[in-house]
Amino acid sequence: MTSTDTLDTHPLGGPALPQERRLVTAIPGPRSQQLLERKAAAVPAGVGHTVPIEAVAAGGGVVVDADGNSLIDLGSGIAVTGVGNAHPAVVAAVQAQAAQFTHTCFMISPYESYVAVAEALNRVTPGSHAKKSALFNSGAEAVENAVKIARKFTKRQAVVAFDHGYHGRTNLTMALTAKAMPYKSGFGPFASEIYRAPLSYPYRDGLTGAEAAKRAISLIEKQVGADNLAAMIIEPIQGEGGFIVPADGFLPALVEWCRDNGVVFIADEVQTGFARTGAMFASEHFGIVPDLITTAKGIAGGLPLAAVTGRAEIMDASHTGGLGGTYGGNPIACAAALASIDAFENDGLLERARRIGELLTDRLRALQATDARVGDVRGHGAMIAAEFIDPVTGEPDAALTAAVAKACIAEGVIVLTCGTYGNVIRFLPPLSIPDDLLHEGLDVVAAALAAQP
Ligand code: PMP
Repeated sequence: MTSTDTLDTHPLGGPALPQERRLVTAIPGPRSQQLLERKAAAVPAGVGHTVPIEAVAAGGGVVVDADGNSLIDLGSGIAVTGVGNAHPAVVAAVQAQAAQFTHTCFMISPYESYVAVAEALNRVTPGSHAKKSALFNSGAEAVENAVKIARKFTKRQAVVAFDHGYHGRTNLTMALTAKAMPYKSGFGPFASEIYRAPLSYPYRDGLTGAEAAKRAISLIEKQVGADNLAAMIIEPIQGEGGFIVPADGFLPALVEWCRDNGVVFIADEVQTGFARTGAMFASEHFGIVPDLITTAKGIAGGLPLAAVTGRAEIMDASHTGGLGGTYGGNPIACAAALASIDAFENDGLLERARRIGELLTDRLRALQATDARVGDVRGHGAMIAAEFIDPVTGEPDAALTAAVAKACIAEGVIVLTCGTYGNVIRFLPPLSIPDDLLHEGLDVVAAALAAQP
């Protein structure tokens, strides 16, 4: 089937795909199965996949597969396609830039779009202080560079990350990431001078933000020593760790302690950034202004781009040539980022994320009211999660979570799981998804849960 032959566009853009859930085969269908067999033979098992399909088109709120199935997208390719997949302005910017030049290497022959992305990031990130930005290819690479910059600036080595944190799969970022399976097991030894502090996890620890901050700071002071600490890195809302929203006051107390002790506070907004949470950056929900902020995912509508943005005096700590990479700030990715940032600022996407958040929260809370296995519903904007538990013991129920997610995918709804205990379903729809698809997706989730014994 040709999936682009129906003229049914969504007002927020995307290719002309019918905005519908449509199953014409079982998932996976025969074409998809063929690709998965080739994948198994050609690609290592370590590179997994969640949804067993061959994707051929995506836009608005759907992903279409090679068998003609149209799946509701509640994952955005892990929080990437916030502006919607193949957003027309992103497509046009990419095409125009690709026809002009595809690469010079910004460190060899600079070009305007890189500088324009840096200017835009310096403007849209929290805080009115002087800022600078450097561009990279992936979230992990941005995190690695934020740590390099903080160490160079402070002339200290230690870095504190938090329980439930996720920062990537490179060697340094594996050390920063909390969860062993599947991210770290067997891949050590890890980078040194990384320490872990307890998080604020209101649903499970029952602490106020101030209490949780005191617990973390006390551990850091005793086990690391403020004078040794270059940086503290934290996701304002934990992503892979389970969409954990810290209690009020937790993050501001950490930021204040960092300021008092000359420690660089790094907010990893790779997953939470760019309107995802109903604010341009999640830090805004907590009233904090990070020293450095790492971004990626939503920044460029699906093109690989990442950034470190922060206080000019910190960002300028490195000698010339200490930061960079062959592809960092590739001109096609920069063109896509400029089009995406324009869409975030001017297409009403912040409002749209908030509306999606209300809809998701209302629906999931209604489910929670009738099913005690939904232990907690939390998040901000279009980043909402449900945590599944054994209603008798309150223990995490990873098996139930996996079964619900599997059933949803079989019914044509892409949902992703997360959480240290594997018991969280996270909802990260593209902001271009229409309300009726969101409702239909949640109907499928509710039916999948009801069908589990
Ligand atoms: N930080 C956070 C908060 C993330 O969610 C991720 C990706 N899930 C990363 C870093 C790593 O990004 P990437 O996969 O682009 O390296």
